[in-house]
Amino acid sequence: MLIKSYDVEVFTPPCEPGAERFAAKAHLNDDISETLPLLNATLPGAVYHRTAHALTWKKGGHNIAFHAFEIGTSNAEDRETAERELMSLVELVNRTWERRAEIIPDFETRRRPTPLAVFRLLPQTNCRRCGEPTCFTFALRLTASQASLDLCPVVTEGADASRLADLADLLVEAPALGRRK
Ligand code: SF4
Repeated sequence: MLIKSYDVEVFTPPCEPGAERFAAKAHLNDDISETLPLLNATLPGAVYHRTAHALTWKKGGHNIAFHAFEIGTSNAEDRETAERELMSLVELVNRTWERRAEIIPDFETRRRPTPLAVFRLLPQTNCRRCGEPTCFTFALRLTASQASLDLCPVVTEGADASRLADLADLLVEAPALGRRK
């Protein structure tokens, strides 16, 4: 196990007074720098900053940051959720480290796609079948990792395979690329 112990800090970010959202940090006693390229290879949409020993990721509306001796998550609805999310991230790091022999480390820094770039590839019919009022709202949720492409049946069930492939490429389907066979 890589992370054997850590201290938890839960707080309301000072930039969001009264917002009633919570952030949490795990202050680690172990250096997880070598795990970051492994996470970069396996987490879709992760952005790795090699020189800073940092990796950022969005998951379920949470902004997540991994540093050498710290893991942070934000935008939780209450303290318990923030702590639970943090614990799952610590477990993710430990699981990934245990699988290090089967993962090819990825040191590349990828840019996250902009909502506009994703929107341009969506059908732009605003048909609402994805549950969003417009295709642009859906693009915003896709780029924030709050929705997945399969919620748009117009794309996934349509005849335009190249549109689907372009969207999948843009939204980074990284894990399959980074694993050893
Ligand atoms: S289902 Fe697809 S086409 Fe329809 S509004 Fe949502 S993103 Fe646009």
